[in-house]
Amino acid sequence: MKKIYLRLALGLCVFSLVPLEDLHAEVNKTEEVAPGVYFHEGDLGRRGHCNNGWVVFDDFVLVIDANFPSGAKDVIPKIRALTDKPIRFAFDTHHHGDHAYGNQVWFENGATVVAHEGVVAEMKKYETGFYGGAAGRWEDTAKNREDVAASKLKPPTLLFRKEMIFDDGRHRVELLHFGTAHTRGDGFAWLPKERILFTGDACVNGPFNYTGDGNIEQWVKTLTLVQELGPLTICPGHGPMGDNSVLVDQIQFFSLLRAELKKLIKAGKNTAQVKESMETVKTTLKNQDRLQRYVGSFFSAQFEQAYVELGGTPFETKAAAVLPHKPKDKAVVLGRVEK
Ligand SMILES: [Zn+2]
Repeated sequence: MKKIYLRLALGLCVFSLVPLEDLHAEVNKTEEVAPGVYFHEGDLGRRGHCNNGWVVFDDFVLVIDANFPSGAKDVIPKIRALTDKPIRFAFDTHHHGDHAYGNQVWFENGATVVAHEGVVAEMKKYETGFYGGAAGRWEDTAKNREDVAASKLKPPTLLFRKEMIFDDGRHRVELLHFGTAHTRGDGFAWLPKERILFTGDACVNGPFNYTGDGNIEQWVKTLTLVQELGPLTICPGHGPMGDNSVLVDQIQFFSLLRAELKKLIKAGKNTAQVKESMETVKTTLKNQDRLQRYVGSFFSAQFEQAYVELGGTPFETKAAAVLPHKPKDKAVVLGRVEK
């Protein structure tokens, strides 16, 4: 298969070489998920953009994810084409650049940026010298992206600890935090009436699981709790939207990865032997029809991280650079979707 190789800059949660024809058929198109509820799959491959959602309330628009500044500027006219109501709130599902660096653009358009309080905590840790600490990913990304260089980081100012609810009687959106998954500040936007769930990168639909700022064990537990909401439609952080099977498959991908590693550990394999088994485990996952789309360039890092979480010793490879708590700021990750 012809592959289109794409290099995305550091500090994003997704760096991937993606066959666009497979995964981005609906890129840059606005889809009405339900009356007044929209999903927009961002152009990840060419521009690093995340997916966006928005809900048109009686008095205002709530946007889900801020995207990069260029992504925000792509989406704003599309919202404006549908409604002239003020865009009053932009919700960051997490702190990563492709979901939060566009905050300033939304702010300049009249919005207040909303997030779980963990987003600010992680921004302080990883993203920026804004709070007086060392420079971080924002500053690094600004060296590579003109849209970031031309903007500034605007951290969320309206924070919630457990949940925040928007309800005008017609639409109801609950912003919820269930614990650590993709990051320690993951927020979900849940529409209980329509049973639509916007997940950010806690659930993706394709080989986009960057695990370095999260915890795979907790991720499975968190998404298992999320599943109890009973969503019918999943609007993921990257990749096309789908039904609840997207969430089921996302959970299953990490569950099976962990189960395979547990088997190796139980069989008494040492670190070198576990590492040697990586290709076999990858094949096992790729042989599962519903999971193969999750196996991509992040696999070696996911495999190693899951092993370390289970008590294993880190491999002496580059993948160690993306283990939890280890800054990967100097790393440049290139990869590709594996078919
Ligand atoms: Zn992310």
